[in-house]
Amino acid sequence: MSSKESSVVGSAKDFLKFINKSPSPFHAVEESKKRLLEAGFKELNEAEKWSVKPGDKFFLTRNHSTLVAFAVGGKFQPGNGFSIIGTHTDSPCLKIKPTSKIVKNGYLQVGVQLYGGGIWHTWFDRDLKLAGRVLIRNSKSQIEHKLVDIDKPLLRVSTVAIHLSRDQNEKFEFNKETTLVPILAMATNSSSEKNDGRDSPSKQTVDKHHNALLNAVANKLGCSAKDIIDLELCLADYVPGTIGGLNDDFIFCGRLDNLHSTYCALQGLLDSLKASDSLEKEPNIRMVSMFDNEEVGSESAQGAASALQEHILRRLSYDDSNASAFEQCICQSLLVSADMAHAVHPNFSEKHEEHHRPFLNKGVVLKFNANQKYASTAITSSIMREIAHEASIPIQDFVMRNDMACGSTIGPILSTRLGIPTLDLGSPQLSMHSIREMCSTSSVHLAISLFKAYFENYSKMYARIIKN
Ligand SMILES: [Zn+2]
Repeated sequence: MSSKESSVVGSAKDFLKFINKSPSPFHAVEESKKRLLEAGFKELNEAEKWSVKPGDKFFLTRNHSTLVAFAVGGKFQPGNGFSIIGTHTDSPCLKIKPTSKIVKNGYLQVGVQLYGGGIWHTWFDRDLKLAGRVLIRNSKSQIEHKLVDIDKPLLRVSTVAIHLSRDQNEKFEFNKETTLVPILAMATNSSSEKNDGRDSPSKQTVDKHHNALLNAVANKLGCSAKDIIDLELCLADYVPGTIGGLNDDFIFCGRLDNLHSTYCALQGLLDSLKASDSLEKEPNIRMVSMFDNEEVGSESAQGAASALQEHILRRLSYDDSNASAFEQCICQSLLVSADMAHAVHPNFSEKHEEHHRPFLNKGVVLKFNANQKYASTAITSSIMREIAHEASIPIQDFVMRNDMACGSTIGPILSTRLGIPTLDLGSPQLSMHSIREMCSTSSVHLAISLFKAYFENYSKMYARIIKN
C-alpha cells in the first residue's frame, strides 16, 4: 500500500471513529472538543470577557450542540479577515417526546417526534439505540448536564408482515404519528416497571416516560432515576458505520450529512496548524463553525440564523481605536459552507442535470444555484478553484435541474446575515437523509486535503485578487 493509499484509509477509519462516537449533535460537539483540547485549543466562555491574541487557539460551545473553534494568525490584527468553514452537527432523526410512555397490546412503546426531513421508511426494522443529553439534579441540588449513549439495540419500529399488507411492495405507506412508534419491551416482562420506591422517578418525569427507560438512562449515568429532571434523547442506528464494497470503496453510515463535513473541516483546521510557521505567518483567523438545527431551518439560539457567528466575529475584531474594524473584516473574509452534495446515482441518473453529475470518488463538489439556494459566486468559486488547482486536489461542479426544487444550506443564511462572501460545497454522497447513507472512502481524505489547503492559502489567494 502506498503512503497515499494508507492516508486515504487512515482518514476514513479515523472519521468512522468520530462518527460512531457521535450519535447525537451533543456527542459530535463533545468528540470535537476532545480533539481540540488534545491539539492544544482552550475553551472560552461566552459569558466572560475574552483576551485573545495572535497565535491563540480557542473554541466555545452553545447549547452543547454548536461549536466554534478558531486559531488566530500570528499577524492578525482587528479588521483582518476570517477564513471560515461552516457545517452542521444535526441530522434527521426520531426524538423522544416530552411524554413518551405508551402501553399498547402488551407492548411498552416510546412516543417520538420526527426531527428534520428524514427518509422515514428507512427507520423501519432497524436495531435502534438511544443517545442524547440528560439534565440531572445532583446531591448539592445543582443542575448537571450529562451525555448518555445507551449502546445496545434497545428499540425497533417493526413493519407489518407481507401477509397482512399484500400491496406494500407496490406502495409502502405509513402514518408518521401512529405507525412510526418504536417498541421498547413487553409490558408483562418489564420488571423495571415495578419499583420499590427507592429509584422511583422524580416528580418531573413520573408518568411521562417508562420507568424501564428512565432506569436504563440512570444506570448508564450512574445516578438514580429520581435525579432526572428532563432529557433530550434521539434514536440512532445501533449498527456502527463501516467501510464496505468489494474494494473497500465505500463508507456505509448514518449522519454523513453533515458529520462528514464537520469532521473534515475540523481535521483540515488541525492539519493546517501542524507546520510550525503556518499560523505564525497568517494574517487571518482560521475558524470552523459547526451549527445545530440546520435540518429544521437554522432558526434557534444555536442555529446559523442566530447572531452567534456575528457576535464572535465582532468580539474578535474589536479595536477601541478603530470603530470600523468589524465592517472591514467582512469583505476580506470567506465563508465556506460545507454540506454534503448529491452524487449521481446509477439507478436514478435522470435525477441529475446531464452535465453536472458528480461522481462519488472524484472530489469535493462546488454547488451553484442562480436563485441563491446556494451562496456561491464566480469570485468565491474562483478562489477555491485556484486553491484546489495549486494543491492538485480534484473538485467537481453541481447545479440542480431546472425542473426540480433545490435544497439549501447555512451558506445563504450566513451570507445574508453577515454579508460575507460565501461558497457552498460538499462531498458527494448517496441516500442523503436515510438512516444509513453512503459515500466514498476516499472522500474523507480529499475533503480534509482541500480544507487544509484552504486554511493555509485563503489569505494569500485573497491578496492576489485585483480589487477594482
Ligand atoms: Zn446537510
